[in-house]
Amino acid sequence: MPSLIDLLLSRLATLLPSELKASELKQLLLPHRHSMLLTQRRATMIVNRVRLFAFLFAVLTPVWGIIDLVVFSYPLWLGLASFRLLACAAFACLLLLYRPSGNLFDAYRAIAILFAIPTVFYIASHTLLGGYQLTQLSAVVATGYAFLPFVLMAGLAIFPLTLVENLVLASILLLAQGLAGYLSWSTLNWPSFAGAFWLLILIAGVTALASLSQLAFMIALVRQAIRDPLTGVFSRGSGQEIMQLQWDTSWRHESGLAVAFVDLDHFKSINDAFGHDAGDQALRDCARHILDNLRSTDSLVRWGGEEFVVIMPDTDKEQARLALGRMVQKGFGMRPDGLPLTASIGLAERFADHIESPQQLLELADKRMYLAKTSGRNRLCAEAGDELDTFTVRQERSSGRGNRVGRSRSKFSV
Ligand code: GH3
Ligand code: MG
Ligand code: MG
Repeated sequence: MPSLIDLLLSRLATLLPSELKASELKQLLLPHRHSMLLTQRRATMIVNRVRLFAFLFAVLTPVWGIIDLVVFSYPLWLGLASFRLLACAAFACLLLLYRPSGNLFDAYRAIAILFAIPTVFYIASHTLLGGYQLTQLSAVVATGYAFLPFVLMAGLAIFPLTLVENLVLASILLLAQGLAGYLSWSTLNWPSFAGAFWLLILIAGVTALASLSQLAFMIALVRQAIRDPLTGVFSRGSGQEIMQLQWDTSWRHESGLAVAFVDLDHFKSINDAFGHDAGDQALRDCARHILDNLRSTDSLVRWGGEEFVVIMPDTDKEQARLALGRMVQKGFGMRPDGLPLTASIGLAERFADHIESPQQLLELADKRMYLAKTSGRNRLCAEAGDELDTFTVRQERSSGRGNRVGRSRSKFSV
């Protein structure tokens, strides 16, 4: 019988964003678990929204100066107008100079600049206004200046941010509000300042919820867009993007980049003998087997029907050969008739093969996979005109127990 706590937990679980899988919930907390493509798309979206905000502020900040001109007397409106012009110029620079690069740190910097400009404007104008005794309409408009922190805090809701990112940004805005209070200490109306601070905290909470639900939708949408629905690994389109991103990274860091083309052997016969559903199941199992043998930084892509591409960043050719050797040893799963499912693999590496573009790297791996096929299948081809690494897998019928894939004879040493 389920305990009360289990019941409570299962009820609470229904409140979590249903568009996410349980394994994806942790991605709402911190960005370090996000995939490369999610990070890239999120960074692009953040910078685009920063630019939209910068545009609106760049237009509205000077326009509001007309109201200042009408309600405030001479030295005060001039002081405020100069702050407004400086803020407007800063927003315009942000709009003109910033373009989405797909890099998360660029996106953080863009948000920091976007929020720093009005925060500095707010502290400066708050301090300036504090030195004047204002009455009637001018007092009403001056109160409007005190709303800026609320606008900024609510503005966080337009970004798809993790919980920790939200907490950091909200804390900075709360600190700025505290600083503004500290600077106008002598004239501060304590009860109204404390009330405003409390309201700001409440808005921060609601904003964090809005921001997290945006992130949840984004995670789900990106997953649907980049994953192959049958196997759950990356689809070909996203694989091409990952390939380009990893290629750029390997150029920047002068690090190795290995790519393996994996084509399952005699796969059609599974469909012919056991039906398409059995073939689908074999593909799912195979993807799981390959994934189990990859590092977290490697990417598995379903390139075509029964063809997969493994992208291994920061890996030289020898390391890739060893990794693929271990993968072949553990096998690609079983065929419905109980025989091991085997694959022909082509391997290419950026430095060792003197490759000049990601397309060339893929083409060479594909060519070597074809060589492995024509040389008898169930093997790895890693060199041009080469001696092939041969993995011989026992072609025994399933006994229904244990791992039936063994390596009885191999030129490959792990
Ligand atoms: P080889 O050893 O030469 O690679 O032989 P093969 O049979 O694996 O290769 P071939 O290209 O002749 O056939 C590939 C087969 O993969 C044909 C197709 O029915 C099957 N296939 C492709 N995509 C899917 C899929 O999504 N589900 C299933 N069940 N089968 C698929
Ligand atoms: Mg094929
Ligand atoms: Mg095949």
